[in-house]
Amino acid sequence: MSIPSGYDEIVATYGNPKGCNGNASPAWEEANLVDFAPPYPFFYEGDTSNTAVTHFRVHRLVVPDLTEILQTVYNAARQLVKENDGDSFDTTYYDKRTLDVLAAHRCNLFSGSYNYRNKRGQDVPSDHAFGIAIDFDANHNAFGSQRGTLPDWFIKAFTDKGWEWGGQWSGADRDWMHFQRAQKY
Ligand SMILES: [Zn+2]
Repeated sequence: MSIPSGYDEIVATYGNPKGCNGNASPAWEEANLVDFAPPYPFFYEGDTSNTAVTHFRVHRLVVPDLTEILQTVYNAARQLVKENDGDSFDTTYYDKRTLDVLAAHRCNLFSGSYNYRNKRGQDVPSDHAFGIAIDFDANHNAFGSQRGTLPDWFIKAFTDKGWEWGGQWSGADRDWMHFQRAQKY
């Protein structure tokens, strides 16, 4: 499935979430939103109790990509462990160390997905309002011109699948935490 570009293609692909009185359409939500279970454990930004995020609420049409992308991220972390530690250990060791690497790079911090709201400072719906955008580690990847901290291999897993990364946007509009399954909107 190709990546929609621009508002009209986004609505044609994902439907229009707009309902009445500034709320999302319950029928659209019912027909399109699903709970995506990430392939490795995620946690909420700044949650010291370490409660795992069991699902991301997203549009059903982003699930196949997202499964593949986060598996690619996991595999990249595992590869880093093997490059660092060698390949003579057992699976349990690599399982644990891979999660350590994901945590060390803060690739396991979830900061939001579906949210029926407008784009920042604009009167048009955000990509989050379609359930097609996800934010990661907002504390260290804040909106603005200062470079966020998500590693290149995390970002590349998304952009290789045609997703747009907010860090690619221009100047002060950069949104380092943000990834969306849509272009140019
Ligand atoms: Zn976002």
